[in-house]
Amino acid sequence: MNDRRDFFKKIGLLGLSGLAFKLVSNEQLSALEALGHQAGNSTPFTLSPLPYTYNALEPYIDEQTMLIHHTKHHQAYVTKMNETPSTNIDFQVDDMTKCRHIDQYTSAVIRNNLGGHVNHTLFWTLLKPNKDAKPNLPSGKLAEAINRDFKSFEEFKKQFSEKASKHFGSGWCWLIEKDNKLLITTTPNQDNPLMKVAEHQGKIVLALDVWEHAYYLKYQNKRADYISNWWNVANWEKAEELYLKK
Ligand code: MN
Repeated sequence: MNDRRDFFKKIGLLGLSGLAFKLVSNEQLSALEALGHQAGNSTPFTLSPLPYTYNALEPYIDEQTMLIHHTKHHQAYVTKMNETPSTNIDFQVDDMTKCRHIDQYTSAVIRNNLGGHVNHTLFWTLLKPNKDAKPNLPSGKLAEAINRDFKSFEEFKKQFSEKASKHFGSGWCWLIEKDNKLLITTTPNQDNPLMKVAEHQGKIVLALDVWEHAYYLKYQNKRADYISNWWNVANWEKAEELYLKK
């Protein structure tokens, strides 16, 4: 149970949205665990509403992309998790307490769909509207750490953009803290840096979805354009909150 709480704490979602993770409250945990195998028939995962409207990130991320990304793609990960019968060989409700190590499951269903649910829930919070096209820069301790580890914000932006645009195929680009140092890394599919399979494990500070479904409607094959526009709507306040989380 602690592993699960620890996992959600690490990614800063605990308490953020009771709807997103019904699993996080102790009462519900106990209720689910008491249900044992039958809990597969309950629906422990739900899609929480976005903290802004679907058109709020225009003109950088368009309304239709946000709508489909949230109500179709993210919803599909949630639905698949809920459809996964708990009687499946290596999957029981009790095993979900070990979300921190979801990659340990041989079942790709769990790794991909729980990973997808966690990554997207986090990603939505790391975006924020920027209607006035204001310069969007990190501040405070996170800005200091970026300057310390990348020399300047511009240099960090360049390296992150390169890494994100060059990542082959579907996946995510992350800013993480590892060994008290900021690091840019990518993961394939719906893996993330909390998973043991990740090339670099660490505390997630910033996340960027580089799956085609995140940009194709507006940007088609031009992933680099999507990335350069995304900088306008990165939520640095949330990123700093994640960075400062112990
Ligand atoms: Mn996505």
